[in-house]
Formats: sequence, structure tokens, C-alpha cells
Amino acid sequence: MFIEPRVGNDNHAIRRGWIEVICGSMFSGKTEELIRRLNRAKIAKQKVEIFKPTIDKRYHDEDVVSHNANAIRSTPIDFAQDMLLLGGSCDVVGIDEAQFFDDGLAEVCVKLANSGVRVIAAGLDMDYLGKPFGPMPALMAVAEYVTKVHAICVQCGDIATYSFRNSPSEQQVLLGETESYEARCRHCFQEGLRKQNK
Ligand SMILES: [Zn+2]
Repeated sequence: MFIEPRVGNDNHAIRRGWIEVICGSMFSGKTEELIRRLNRAKIAKQKVEIFKPTIDKRYHDEDVVSHNANAIRSTPIDFAQDMLLLGGSCDVVGIDEAQFFDDGLAEVCVKLANSGVRVIAAGLDMDYLGKPFGPMPALMAVAEYVTKVHAICVQCGDIATYSFRNSPSEQQVLLGETESYEARCRHCFQEGLRKQNK
């Protein structure tokens, strides 16, 4: 389990920021882990702000909702850049569904962290073809801490790192996950792609 680094309380004048990334496939508990970290910061009376891309409209507009319905209120934004204005005065900035943001995400997170904000971003590291997803690789490169969480392969019970799509759509972004996706291990993912002729 991720343990927060100790930040000296002796000098409140110096705020130290850093970047944490929580990545993995679908059904790996990324959002649950994000919410766990954010709730602990809230209990410590830190100022927490949560952002998600407006594209993710699966659930309530204002909530980061994980699949176990553990919700925290969040602000939908169009561009990563918007976080600089809205999150600059926070102690902690949480980002959900980070893979859907534009390529400016890593730079924005670096700016926030440099100005003393703790940034925690959760997102899919790979798309349904097993390719690195959007701004995630760049964000993982500049992060201090990267936690890869795993799901369980629906086919064989092994550790799953891939999000396999059962639908014929070629769109990279396809929401409404439970019907269309399943978590698969490397072997069963390859097997599935072969059967779909991809
Ligand atoms: Zn498997």
C-alpha cells in the first residue's frame, strides 16, 4: 500500500509538492485508491480539489464515482490548463480519468507540484489495444511515485493488466465499461485480439 512521504511540519511556510500516479487497467481499483488517498488528506484538514475531464459523463456530473459507489464531489473541466487556475491554491489536487486529458497534462501537473501542490492522478495506462493511453506515459515519467494496480483476469484468474473490449467499435474512447470491457492478463488479452483479428 502507498504510504505518503513525510513532509516536515516544523516549517509551514515551505510547501513541498510532488506527483503521484495511480495507473492500471479497468476494474483494478484506481479510483478507489485515489479516493482513499484524498479522503485521508481531507481528514487532515488539507484543502483538496478533484478534477476530471468533461468527457467522463458516465455518472453524476459533479462526482468522481468509483464502481463501489464511493463518491467524492469533483469539478469537470475541458482542458488540463484549467487546473492551474482552479487548483493552484490547494494542498492536494486529485485527477480522475487522467488518460482522457490533453497532452498538456504532464506540464500542468509539473507546474502545480513545483508550486507546492501534491498532485494525485489516476488513469488507464493502456487503451483497449494495449497501447499507452494519451498523456499517461508522459505523466508517469515526471511523477515521483507511480503505483500500478491490478485487476483479475476474467478468463483465467491471473493478474490482469489489460482492458479487453468485447465490442467491435474502433473508437479509443468508449464509455459504459461494464458491458463492453473485461480485465484480462497478457495471455488472454493476446488470445482475444487474435480472435478479433487485430
Ligand atoms: Zn488470463
